Amino acid sequence: MTRNKHHVVVGAGAAGLAAASAMRDNGFAGRITVVDADPHTPYERPPLSKEYLSDRRLREIVAETEYRRLDIELRLGVGVCRLRPSDRRIDTSDGEELVADRVLLTTGVAARRLDVPGAALGNILTLRDAADAAALSARLRAGGPLVVVGGGFVGLEVAAAAVDRGIDVTVVELGELPLLAAVGPEIARRICRLHTERGVRILTRRTVDAFAGSRAVESVRLSTGERLDAATVVVGCGVVPNDGLARQAGVACADGITVDDLGRSSDPWIWAAGDIAAHVNPHLGHRGRIEHWDVARRHGAAVGASMAGNATVNREIPYFWSHQYQHTLQMYGRGRPGDRVIVRDSTTEPGFVAFWVRDGRVAAAAALDEPRDVRSAKILAENRIEVPDETLRFAGTDLRRLVRQLRSPDTRRDVDVTG
Ligand SMILES: Cc1cc2nc3c(=O)[nH]c(=O)nc-3n(C[C@H](O)[C@H](O)[C@H](O)COP(=O)(O)OP(=O)(O)OC[C@H]3O[C@@H](n4cnc5c(N)ncnc54)[C@H](O)[C@@H]3O)c2cc1C
Repeated sequence: MTRNKHHVVVGAGAAGLAAASAMRDNGFAGRITVVDADPHTPYERPPLSKEYLSDRRLREIVAETEYRRLDIELRLGVGVCRLRPSDRRIDTSDGEELVADRVLLTTGVAARRLDVPGAALGNILTLRDAADAAALSARLRAGGPLVVVGGGFVGLEVAAAAVDRGIDVTVVELGELPLLAAVGPEIARRICRLHTERGVRILTRRTVDAFAGSRAVESVRLSTGERLDAATVVVGCGVVPNDGLARQAGVACADGITVDDLGRSSDPWIWAAGDIAAHVNPHLGHRGRIEHWDVARRHGAAVGASMAGNATVNREIPYFWSHQYQHTLQMYGRGRPGDRVIVRDSTTEPGFVAFWVRDGRVAAAAALDEPRDVRSAKILAENRIEVPDETLRFAGTDLRRLVRQLRSPDTRRDVDVTG
C-alpha cells in the first residue's frame, strides 16, 4: 500500500532519525528522504558542550550502515528553502524539487543572539552545532578569560569544561540564579555551588550592555557598569524555533509548530516532532516545546509511527540529564510553582535526590550522582505516587523497595522501607 509513497523528513537530528526509523519499523515501505543543511554525518548534540570540547569527536546518532539497512536516503548539506503544500513540493537549496506525500519537520531550534553594540565582534560564540563546537573548542585551547552569558545548562556545561582546562570563567545571568526556571531555587543553588567551589564567578541580575574590542571581543560591559575582560564569550541566552518553513507555508505556529497528539500540524501534509513541535506531553498537561534529547527521540519515534499509519502518542515522562565536572544531574518531569520540593541528601556529597510534591503526590524528581535511585524516583513521579514527606526525605529509605511495595496491592497499606 505504501510502496509508492514518499515521506520527506527535514532535519537529521534526534527526532528526524527516530521518526524515519520508526516509519520503517511500522511497515512504511515507500521512499524516505532525510534532508539536513548540516554537512556532517548526523551526530548527537548533547556531547558538544561536554566530551566534544576535550576530545573533538562527533558521536554519530546511528551507524552509517543503518541508513542502508533501513533504506533511508540521506541528503546532507542541503537546506530546505520552501514548502509548497498546494502541490506537495519541497524546494531545496541545491535547486531540486522533491515531491512528497507527507513532510515531517524536525528542524529544531537556533541559538538566540544578543542584539547589543559589539555583538558582531570575533570570538563571540553560540553553541548549537558541530561547527560551533569546533570553534569553541579551538578558543578554549587558546585560553581565557571566558565569559558565559546566560546560566542555562549549555552555558554551565561550557563553564565546567573551561574550568577543567584551568580557564578563568565568569557566568553572567539575568535572573536571581542560573537554572532557576529549569529546576527551582533549591536545586539551582546546589548546582551553582559546584561551580563557585571551583572558582567560577557567577554574577546574577545582570545583563550585557555591550561588547568591546578592535576585531575580536576584549571586554564585556554589563548593565551594572562593570567591565569583564574576555578572550572568548559564549552566549547561551535561549533559543528561537526554526519554524520559518512552517510559517511561510501557512501552518499554525505559536512558540514552535502547533501539533496534535500524533504530530499533525494545521496542514494535513505537514507533521512536526522534537524541539520544534509545540505539543502536549501528558505528564506536563500543557502545550509547549521540550528541548531534551530523550524527548526528541521518543516524540520523533511516536510521530514517525503515526505517519506510517500506526497512531502512537508519546506518553513518556520528559527526561533530561546534564554533565558538569564529574557530576551528572538527571531529571524526570517538571516542577511547577507551588510544588513542595523535598531534598534527600546522599551519603556522599554533593549527591541528592529531590522530589517535587504536588497535591500530596510525587510529580517530578531529580538526582545528582544517584543513577539508580533516580530511576525509582522516576516511577514515583510518572505514577504520581503518594509518599509521606519523611519517607522521601530520609536517606535510609530504600527507594527501589519502596517502589516495589507501593506497586504491590498487598503491601500498599503497610510500608516499611527504612534501611
Ligand atoms: C550543546 C547542546 C547540548 C545539549 N545537551 C543536552 C543534554 O545534556 N541533555 C538533553 O536532554 N538535551 C541536551 N540538548 C538538547 C538536545 O540536543 C535537543 O533537545 C535535541 O537535539 C533536539 O533534537 P531535534 O531532532 O528536535 O532537533 P536538532 O537536533 O536541533 O536537529 C534539527 C536539525 O534540523 C536541521 N535543519 C534546520 N532547518 C533546516 C532546513 N531548513 N533545511 C534542512 N535542515 C534543517 C538542522 O541542521 C539540524 O540538524 C543539548 C543541545 C545542545 C545544542
